[in-house]
Amino acid sequence: TDHGELGNHHGYGPDIDHVLLSEEQIREKIEELAAQIAVDYAGKEVLLVGVLKGAVLFMSDFARALRLPTQMEFMAVSSYGSATSSSGVVRILKDLDRDISDRHVLVIEDIIDSGLTLSWLLKNLGGRRPASLEVCALLRKPDAVKVDVPVRYVGFDIPNEFVVGYGLDYAERYRDLPYIATLKPEVYQ
Ligand code: 5GP
Ligand code: MG
Ligand code: MG
Repeated sequence: TDHGELGNHHGYGPDIDHVLLSEEQIREKIEELAAQIAVDYAGKEVLLVGVLKGAVLFMSDFARALRLPTQMEFMAVSSYGSATSSSGVVRILKDLDRDISDRHVLVIEDIIDSGLTLSWLLKNLGGRRPASLEVCALLRKPDAVKVDVPVRYVGFDIPNEFVVGYGLDYAERYRDLPYIATLKPEVYQ
């Protein structure tokens, strides 16, 4: 692999197997999503709810691309399970700071895999009586179709591979990569 081409960010180059989505592809998709959402929410004040920590980079770029008045809240949840799969049993690590009743809430997610985390989250947030509640996820994996979670906006449908970068981690590493990639098998050993 030519690590120069990958930009060997933070010295991660040797760990990267292949780049799934480049910086340019991500940037273009965010512009597309933002253009659509700006139309759908015209005249409304949007409350972006970012799900920590994976959605932080996406939320930051998306909020700037949207060009609508938005406010930001964050929530951190942890699903009991292994490092690479979730169980659907969710615990709130950090709750929203404010009431969301009568607000137009747009949940910003990094990736939907089983959909169990999101399904729980939507039930929880829905109970707080927002004026509207929708989801914008950058990535979606094939298993997500098995659970009936209404996701209005999706950036990319990706294959069933474990990916890192652009907010997504493996053991808390690689979130700072500017692109989305897979890791070499030896990294997991
Ligand atoms: P779900 O409940 O939809 O199965 O899990 C969603 C969460 O699992 C994501 O927010 C993320 O933390 C984690 N996850 C699922 N797939 C991946 C992946 O390919 N890479 C990384 N880094 N995390 C993932
Ligand atoms: Mg997430
Ligand atoms: Mg993680």
